[in-house]
Amino acid sequence: MREFGAPQTPASLEMTHTDALTGLGNRRRMREKVENLADERAVDPAPFTIGIANLDGFKPINHLFGRDAGDNILSQVAHRLRACMPNGATVVRLDNDGFGFVLPLIFDARNAERLARMLKDVLSAPFDLGGRTVRLTACLGFAVYPFAGETFDALMDSADTALYRAKRRGRGQILVYSKEIADEFRRATELEQALRRAIMADEIDTHFQPIVRLADGAIVGFEALARWNDPDLGFVPPNVFITLAEERGFIDMLSEVLLKKAAAAAMQWPDALYLSFNLSSAQLVDPTTSVNILSIINRVGLNPRRLELEITETAMMSDPEMAQRIIDDLRVVGIRISLDDFGTGQSSLGRLRDFSFDKVKVDRAFVSEITRDRPSEHIVKAILAMCDGLDLHVIAEGIEGREQAAKLVELGCALGQGYHYGRPMTASAALRLLESLAPEDQQREQRA
Ligand code: C2E
Ligand code: MG
Ligand code: MG
Repeated sequence: MREFGAPQTPASLEMTHTDALTGLGNRRRMREKVENLADERAVDPAPFTIGIANLDGFKPINHLFGRDAGDNILSQVAHRLRACMPNGATVVRLDNDGFGFVLPLIFDARNAERLARMLKDVLSAPFDLGGRTVRLTACLGFAVYPFAGETFDALMDSADTALYRAKRRGRGQILVYSKEIADEFRRATELEQALRRAIMADEIDTHFQPIVRLADGAIVGFEALARWNDPDLGFVPPNVFITLAEERGFIDMLSEVLLKKAAAAAMQWPDALYLSFNLSSAQLVDPTTSVNILSIINRVGLNPRRLELEITETAMMSDPEMAQRIIDDLRVVGIRISLDDFGTGQSSLGRLRDFSFDKVKVDRAFVSEITRDRPSEHIVKAILAMCDGLDLHVIAEGIEGREQAAKLVELGCALGQGYHYGRPMTASAALRLLESLAPEDQQREQRA
């Protein structure tokens, strides 16, 4: 960084605008190019294009092969990108595995897409790591001036938004910032405002779905599920607003409100019942998560041994080390961890070995087919056998009918939840349900 007031020589200017590893320009170089171009084009009104490329799954490369290998690949990527830049274009390295392009002679989305496809193909050829080869893909997002923005920052925001949407579609995806993306972005912003207001007005609620012992249907706990019924927007599904809060960076605030309510409700239940609460993926990369959770349940007074946190494998993927640390910190104080939606997403058996969980929740996709579809039955059987060997408890999710429940009992699954046993219900409905069952439970306990 330049000292304030220190004179800048051409050599030092060169250094502050260059990426040391690849020799490409850096973000400053890109800013300078784009600002100059925008100045020119304001006089001579013609579009130009900027782009961002981000490698898919680069982090594990550093992890698996070491930093040197990672640096080597980044240098090769830089070399390849530079070799296919059209006339007058610039490529820079923006950050870790992100590269930027300034394309003065690309005037529209169609041509941006054509170039993007070429860059994507060039990057998908194998990389040589001295004997080993590695394959990578990249996602690309583009923005055309002046539609997508008139300043460097506005253009970068648009290209970032396009890249982000591309990444959400999967690996090797390309998107150019368009009216549709702009509209979607605006809708998301409106939803964000409504959600922030609803949080402040205490309108976000948690409902509770019973988790039962399959052998006799006795309730052993409840899963808390977030609910938002907006006066204007109507019912907004939790995966929509949870994802939005994650994207817009206020999931912490939302999750805190939800956990507080859920824990307070759990305090009204018999001590033997536990609360299962879903952690969001953003919370598994945040080092303050375990402290925050503990301080919330302490304030409410809930015994950590009555809390179970549900996480998904996909959520652990972005920073496995941090996720492990958070899980360990939580388990030390007696909080249990369950792996939600098991069998879908980025499942890996290795994770069951390397991470310490307490439970696995078999996804509804297998449970719903268990009486109709032999492969689903075999998969559930295999999960049960494996978890038995690993000392993990198993919950079957999404049990909708008697036959499914019977089949699961036959296969030896101990726990379950689903509409067959109870839909998610308000805290007071859950309490009424427990009260109506209490005498029966007491009788059962006396018999035991
Ligand atoms: P999940 O954690 O896997 O929750 C189970 C979902 O399946 C819930 O959907 C539940 O209502 C639904 N479900 C339960 N039994 C049945 C059944 O028998 N049949 C069918 N068809 N569906 C059943 P919901 O409430 O819409 O929640 C969707 C997802 O949103 C959750 O999936 C969870 O990932 C997320 N979510 C919900 N509440 C929270 C929360 O408080 N925090 C976080 N981070 N995520 C939440
Ligand atoms: Mg769940
Ligand atoms: Mg689930």
